[in-house]
Amino acid sequence: MNNIVLETKNLSKRYKSQTALDHVNLCLKQGRIYGLIGKNGAGKTTLMRMIVGLGFPTEGSIELFARNNRNELEETGKRIGSLIEAPGLVSGMSAKENMHLQCLMKGLPNYEVEDELLELVGLRDAGRKRVKNFSLGMKQRLGIAVALIGNPELLMLDEPINGLDPSGVIEIRNLLKKLSENDGKTILISSHNLPELYQVATDYIILHEGEVKEILSHEELDERCKCYISLESTNVNQLTVVLEEQLHTVNFKVMPDNSVQLFDLLEERERLAQVLHDNGIVVTKMAVFETTLEDYFMNVIGGVEHA
Ligand code: ADP
Repeated sequence: MNNIVLETKNLSKRYKSQTALDHVNLCLKQGRIYGLIGKNGAGKTTLMRMIVGLGFPTEGSIELFARNNRNELEETGKRIGSLIEAPGLVSGMSAKENMHLQCLMKGLPNYEVEDELLELVGLRDAGRKRVKNFSLGMKQRLGIAVALIGNPELLMLDEPINGLDPSGVIEIRNLLKKLSENDGKTILISSHNLPELYQVATDYIILHEGEVKEILSHEELDERCKCYISLESTNVNQLTVVLEEQLHTVNFKVMPDNSVQLFDLLEERERLAQVLHDNGIVVTKMAVFETTLEDYFMNVIGGVEHA
């Protein structure tokens, strides 16, 4: 599935003196889950709002399902489901009544899907309860059910796991994976929960101060975030010979500072230390390094800010 679902070209949004989006070029492909990462104020919500037509770009274009003129975009709007900011729910109504209302507003007469969708998001038993008595997590689930009305091909979910308990987070993760893997839906999801985003997304878009800083796939991220053992020794040449000949690995890099990054034997550090010692290698430092999505993100946007 390599169909392009959404393409933005130089998409920009300015509010008076504030640039919320700055020449954003994106290309989202069918069946993938894109994790949108950025600090507060990075432009994530603005981007999603522009895509679903809740605001006009100052500059640039959005092409959805290979269409970009305004009338055609209105038609394509039905193919997008969204949960952006507070889900527009009526608090005095039950979950079921809210679903009904949303079906009516979307012009979809097929009410049978209401129960199906409530079940899908784990709200089957809460269908009759009034939304004002819902927890934040329940509201989020209902928001996702509403976003799924009309079986949209593209889903925009702004902080959908906000307020969910750990089991809710896992349920929503599994649901999103199922929607993309089984139904071929494309999902753009923002979250400040980067470990969770790491588990659910197939691709990551790093947004900073309105600019896309990097787009990378899960595999690319893993490749760049590889765990390794950093080794320092008085005799690096001999160390690499022992790694190759005695420990049978070539999965290492000698760094400019003469340390060695070893991507193997992470679970066999005792044997590694023993073999190096037995071969007369003096190891002056041995440390395990692991880069998480969070570390990677901080690195891309320029590190931690010090107040
Ligand atoms: P995020 O969702 O990543 O937290 P937003 O898209 O909400 O970021 O905001 C991006 C920037 O645009 C922020 O600096 C924010 O203050 C500004 N902004 C967003 N909406 C408006 C608005 N309606 N009027 C003025 N500035 C806005």
